[in-house]
Amino acid sequence: MEQVLELKNIHYAYHNLEGETPAVTDISFCLGKGEFVAIVGPSGCGKSTLLSLIAGLLVPEKGLIKINGKYLRESTTNVGYMLQHDELFEWRTVYHNVILGLEIQHMLSARTKERAHDLLDLYGLKQFEYARPSELSGGMRQRAALIRTLVLDPDVLLLDEPFSALDYQTRLNVGDDIGRIIRQEGKSALLVTHDLSEAISLADRVIVLSGRPATIQQTIPLIFDLPEDTPLARRNAPEFKTYFNLIWKELNTDE
Ligand code: ADP
Repeated sequence: MEQVLELKNIHYAYHNLEGETPAVTDISFCLGKGEFVAIVGPSGCGKSTLLSLIAGLLVPEKGLIKINGKYLRESTTNVGYMLQHDELFEWRTVYHNVILGLEIQHMLSARTKERAHDLLDLYGLKQFEYARPSELSGGMRQRAALIRTLVLDPDVLLLDEPFSALDYQTRLNVGDDIGRIIRQEGKSALLVTHDLSEAISLADRVIVLSGRPATIQQTIPLIFDLPEDTPLARRNAPEFKTYFNLIWKELNTDE
């Protein structure tokens, strides 16, 4: 499989007046083209730090990160970041929120505007294009936030607990919905979540991190024997419980 992202022996520690807080130790893994990988680990273990390193917001103390074979610093390819809160601006319409990243990155053109309209149409937001974010449901808001990221055509999508601000029922639907769109767009994605069911229903592989400083404790490929591999079908499949127990056990052997 073609590799989109490669991390090799990544180390990172925060430094402040009280001293050093090692957050990530010796992390190595790859993300293949079109692959969806979930990262789970105890709270405060270093998951968000890892995503910030991949996004280039933090610089590793040791190790290397490559995107499409290029070192992160030299890389011109972009990384999309989706956070817990959708950060849609109320004073802009949905369409104007979607094109915000294009504006900031000076990528607004007839072609990219058309792509924004097409994505809004394809993913059911056409009639809300000129609505304000407050007129959308929580799920629609997350879809708009995803489209804002997709329109920049990122090579890697980073999702940091993107559904955790939603209530349980909405979270299931939105998680499935966002997962389907990412697959349909053929994007490579890294999802950080504390929700094991979410990880198992959406990902190709789950990386289990140890407590801080995070190291990779286990990588578990998720293989389901299903005629149609959807998040809902996975939740009802017998393998689901097996994977849940396996990952749960991994997370708890660390304590
Ligand atoms: P997670 O996403 O797994 O909950 P984080 O990556 O946010 O964990 O944080 C990992 C550890 O690094 C935590 O113990 C946190 O307290 C510490 N940390 C995070 N940001 C900073 C910072 N800016 N300065 C010092 N320590 C930090």
